[in-house]
Amino acid sequence: MDKLMKVQKKIALVAHDNRKKDLIDWIKANREVLSKHFLHGTGTTGKLISEETGLPVKRYNSGPLGGDMQIGARIIENEIDFLIFFWDPMEAQPHDPDVKALLRIAVLYDIPVAMNQATADFIFQSNLIEKEYDRYVIDYSERLNRAIKL
Ligand code: PGA
Repeated sequence: MDKLMKVQKKIALVAHDNRKKDLIDWIKANREVLSKHFLHGTGTTGKLISEETGLPVKRYNSGPLGGDMQIGARIIENEIDFLIFFWDPMEAQPHDPDVKALLRIAVLYDIPVAMNQATADFIFQSNLIEKEYDRYVIDYSERLNRAIKL
């Protein structure tokens, strides 16, 4: 099952508190290319991006208040097709289960995910970023149609 990513990508940006400065710095360095796409973000991350870069960002709830889940839901609805998520490898979060759920949904829907700066750099310097792309979403219907003994 293919899902078409258009030339203008719908990019979700999320960063945990200790990674927010890193994400903002990366966005500033990549402002020109990002300005060609539609940006979404969790509450605080989205607010900081708008304030610091002037780029428009569609904002959801703050992560601890369900923002990651909202982004996951938009991925399922094909309203987001790209994820840049600078999560903190040194600190547990109250909403760690939501983070895990978001990353699972991103894999399920074949969403490109950058979780650190090097990955974000490699992805954004790929020529695919300026093209349409068919994501391949595996059809799990056979596996879901398993026999359940009652
Ligand atoms: P925030 O949420 O942008 O509202 O800080 C990010 C997160 O913790 O997932």
